Amino acid sequence: RVRAGHVLVATGLVDELPDVPGLRERWGRDVVHCPYCHGWEVRERPIGVIGSGPMSVHQTLLFRQWSDDVVYLRHTAPPLTDEQAEQLAARGVPVIEGEIAAVETAGDRLTGVRLRDGRTVDREVLTVAPRMVARAGFLAGLGLRPQPHPSGMGEYLPADESGRTDVPGVWVAGNVTNLSAQVGAAAAAGAWTAAMINADLVQAETQRAVEAHRGARAGG
Ligand SMILES: Cc1cc2nc3c(=O)[nH]c(=O)nc-3n(C[C@H](O)[C@H](O)[C@H](O)COP(=O)(O)OP(=O)(O)OC[C@H]3O[C@@H](n4cnc5c(N)ncnc54)[C@H](O)[C@@H]3O)c2cc1C
Repeated sequence: RVRAGHVLVATGLVDELPDVPGLRERWGRDVVHCPYCHGWEVRERPIGVIGSGPMSVHQTLLFRQWSDDVVYLRHTAPPLTDEQAEQLAARGVPVIEGEIAAVETAGDRLTGVRLRDGRTVDREVLTVAPRMVARAGFLAGLGLRPQPHPSGMGEYLPADESGRTDVPGVWVAGNVTNLSAQVGAAAAAGAWTAAMINADLVQAETQRAVEAHRGARAGG
């Protein structure tokens, strides 16, 4: 049991991956999600983007900046709109229909995917958009529960710009409230919110001092 008047929650998020056998084991190695984190490492390699949601085509276009050999594996993503189909065609990205049954590996290396109909697609790298869920279940006792993010990316703890939540005394910073924050933004938010908490404490401390001061003057 820990007692505190103010709590800064910085417990990050959980990346929930599509339920494809073998995917989880390669996560962060040759199964990646973020062009800004992994783009340089996967440049000019055969990349397959696993469709899983409404942002998958956007993710495909982002990784297409890094490689001429990108295919879009629609998997369980919604069918392409005419505009999306035109964009992928214009950028030379083939679209492969069909659900993925498993990730294929050889030794400690990803070699592609096997579709449910038995076809295989050779790839060295897979990208996927995980569902990002704030790691905050332990706050339910305080009445603070992750909410669906307006973007559809997952669940987050809403807060104002200072990191203050609706529950008095509970503040949040980093991925637990900003699903898109990377290391720099998450660290900056921690510093900023710590300063906001400090300002709050100073204000409360000053208020107590003023009341004591007034009391002393009235008494004297
Ligand atoms: C595969 C991968 C690659 C990435 N590459 C990059 C990159 O190259 N550059 C970049 O800027 N960003 C990258 N990111 C994103 C980056 O990791 C996050 O944006 C960043 O770590 C968020 O920081 P955070 O402090 O909010 O959360 P986290 O770094 O997730 O830290 C949360 C911490 O809280 C701890 N914790 C959780 N629950 C509890 C609890 N109940 N009690 C106590 N402690 C708890 C966890 O163990 C963890 O240490 C990558 C992410 C992934 C998944």
